[in-house]
Amino acid sequence: LKSRLKDPSLLETRAYLAGEWVGADDGATFDVINPARGDVIAKVADLGRAETARAIAAADTARRDWAARTGKDRAAVLRKWYELMMENQEDLALILTAEMGKPLAEARGEIAYGASFVEWFGEEAKRVYGETIPGHQPDKRISVIRQPIGVAASITPWNFPNAMIARKVAPALAVGCGFVARPAAETPLSALAMAVLAERAGVPTGVLSVITSSRASDIGKEFCENPIVRKLTFTGSTEVGRILLRQSADQVMKCSMELGGNAPFIVFDDADLDAAVQGAMMSKYRNNGQTCVCANRIYVQAGIYDAFAQKLKAAVEKLNVGDGLAEGSDLGPLINEEAVTKIEDHISDIVAKGGQVLTGGRRHGNGGTFFEPTVLTGVTQDMKVAQEETFGPMAPLFRFDTEEEVIAHANDTIFGLACYFYARDIGRITRVQEALEYGIVGVNTGLISSEVAPFGGVKQSGLGREGSHHGIDDYLEMKYICLSV
Ligand code: ADP
Repeated sequence: LKSRLKDPSLLETRAYLAGEWVGADDGATFDVINPARGDVIAKVADLGRAETARAIAAADTARRDWAARTGKDRAAVLRKWYELMMENQEDLALILTAEMGKPLAEARGEIAYGASFVEWFGEEAKRVYGETIPGHQPDKRISVIRQPIGVAASITPWNFPNAMIARKVAPALAVGCGFVARPAAETPLSALAMAVLAERAGVPTGVLSVITSSRASDIGKEFCENPIVRKLTFTGSTEVGRILLRQSADQVMKCSMELGGNAPFIVFDDADLDAAVQGAMMSKYRNNGQTCVCANRIYVQAGIYDAFAQKLKAAVEKLNVGDGLAEGSDLGPLINEEAVTKIEDHISDIVAKGGQVLTGGRRHGNGGTFFEPTVLTGVTQDMKVAQEETFGPMAPLFRFDTEEEVIAHANDTIFGLACYFYARDIGRITRVQEALEYGIVGVNTGLISSEVAPFGGVKQSGLGREGSHHGIDDYLEMKYICLSV
């Protein structure tokens, strides 16, 4: 990997603690594995609670000067960081693919997407406006200022090793918070490379630390129990989100949670069929089905069910499965063996209950954790996939008759992150977009992510929003000032 990088110094394996590049206190390391080949590509510093506490203390000291600077000043640093990310896009993409497995083209896209949050929130740094409110008594003048919340800590997953961190750290730094990131143990290298560039961009010593660790729950406990941390921002499963919410209750900590989804993708009889197939391909197979906004349940109205199934099958059979580092791969490997077991479990459950495999359905001939892109028909609400996220390249097709029926089925889940539907009748579009209980609705599109829009879920998919001008609110506190004149 190092030999393929234009700038090998981006491949850092030490943690970034309070402005220094360090090993663990006890010298421990953990392995980072390339999921396409199964080989160890790096040994990374394996930090614990003591080092995490030092990073938090340093962030608390450093944030004060950082917050005292003007928004324009912080914006300039973030702008520089954004530019460095884009100048090093190819190297960052290579590192990302090597540790996570997604095809290089997608990794390049992720770097641009992650960088766009740094650019966007840098711009927003200048726009943290307050408010004046007409007083409630003749002598009273009321104003509201918004101030940084303090030290924020993040825990992020492996599926977007760059972007999940970028959309948390960027608003935090923009408003003047200190920030301690704990990346997923599968993908620490992308986070460390981001920190190398943050340092070069002029993020001051201590404002940002990256704690690499294989012991997620230890670091999570330090974040939740250390009274200096005022904000926890998490992306991952609903299960772990619940644990962190419970743990953070003792400190009454402000939390943002981007949790699991179970996205319905609905195709009505009046949809543009080819556009719907294309949208389903993007939504379902992007990142090999390993995103929390990937279509998990595809509902197709009876009149076009068979036509849609055949067209989707034809499109899926054109996908190339291979090492993400090789040009021309559309789908990389799954992240690990458990991910393969999960998709196999969903497929056998569907088949046992009467569904059919239209294409795929098995481990791929490449071996390892490669899996054939799969389409299944005859899928019904009593099957596991109706309730659980597959997180793999499997498209289950449910048949439905009426609008009422499909809305009821689409909403019949504890999750409420993203959903999609294809239709042309304007009355139907309006009714359905209002009836779906989700934080994000894609209408006639399978791609919804953008730094300019608020990303986030309702129900048990989470709390808070990332991106857009709203994304900055989670890192700010309001202060109401009542002045008697
Ligand atoms: P995923 O399936 O995407 O890995 P998880 O919710 O299991 O979703 O993990 C998301 C992140 O949370 C990962 O970085 C993982 O290491 C971390 N994590 C898992 N369990 C805990 C925990 N008990 N406390 C803190 N972090 C955790």
